[in-house]
Amino acid sequence: MKCFNCKGEGYVKLRFECEIATIKCEVCDAKGKVRENEHYHQYWDDGDNNPNFYYGPPLDPEGFKNYKIYK
Ligand SMILES: [Zn+2]
Repeated sequence: MKCFNCKGEGYVKLRFECEIATIKCEVCDAKGKVRENEHYHQYWDDGDNNPNFYYGPPLDPEGFKNYKIYK
């Protein structure tokens, strides 16, 4: 499954003031993919500011608002 955090790139861009730094994606360890048999910390909300936290295999980001995945 494609890594949602880096959009499959393996790297994420972070903006520090006027500089942009490219750092390795920690979620997928720069592989661009998450493993369905691994557990990840995930977050989403229901659009009404009710946060949900979940730790388990990667979910399909399509079904969740403001979805985030963490290592
Ligand atoms: Zn990634």
